[in-house]
Amino acid sequence: IVRYRDIRKSFGDFEVLKGLDLDIKQGEKITIIGPSGSGKTTIIRMLMTLEEPTSGTIIVDGEPLWHEVVKGELVSAREKHLRRVRGKIGMVFQQYNLFPHMTILKNVTEAPIHVLGMPKQEAKKRALAMLEKVGLQDHVHKYPIQLSGGQQQRVAIARALVMEPKVMLFDEVTSALDPELVGEVLQVIKDIAQTTNMTMILVTHEMDFAREISDRVVFIDKGKIVEQGPPEQVLENPKTERLNTFLKHFR
Ligand code: ATP
Repeated sequence: IVRYRDIRKSFGDFEVLKGLDLDIKQGEKITIIGPSGSGKTTIIRMLMTLEEPTSGTIIVDGEPLWHEVVKGELVSAREKHLRRVRGKIGMVFQQYNLFPHMTILKNVTEAPIHVLGMPKQEAKKRALAMLEKVGLQDHVHKYPIQLSGGQQQRVAIARALVMEPKVMLFDEVTSALDPELVGEVLQVIKDIAQTTNMTMILVTHEMDFAREISDRVVFIDKGKIVEQGPPEQVLENPKTERLNTFLKHFR
């Protein structure tokens, strides 16, 4: 459902990605691991159309995202195209960025109503179902500030899920949380992974979580994929010295 082909990305003189090829199948759960600065977030941000590759192609659900043809189009047509493809993708980041002046329920119904044009009652019904899925059914009329960081992050997950994206991106969603709140958020993501056929791409430093949740783990270092495969292979039997050294930090 997602295909990266020979993707390069530079910021000024610094080449972050040096020819990345990655294919992700419908329903697959993949985890990207690697040292700080290796380009993991950039891979995800390009899919969310927040960064444009310097060269190469990305195809999402059969449609080119950043492509020569698209690049040549009028700005408005290009924006429209990007918005449409972006509609297939949901993202949860480290910072949950909820709307502080809206209740939890309103935070989740906002996009279905205003972006998808869904009737209010229908949006509310779906939002309540999602909030129940992340265990927050008793907090729907509260405001973000009244919730813990872990609960707010679960709202952010519900807010992304309610749009029914084909692909969900999770970028270090627990790294801003206090340690005692990490487990509840990882558990919610695990439940979603086990109960839906949604394609999921995760960046994480939680190796146990990666092992439990992933169909495939991708290790990236210095802008290239160094190793990839099933978690037991990549995490238990690294083939390269680089991955072995990286994993030592987590043992
Ligand atoms: P981390 O685990 O620390 O989040 P990462 O693997 O996700 O790292 P990226 O965030 O993709 O790495 O960043 C890769 C490199 O690109 C970093 O050195 C970063 O400083 C640089 N970089 C990222 N975004 C920009 C930007 N908008 N402008 C300039 N440099 C950037």
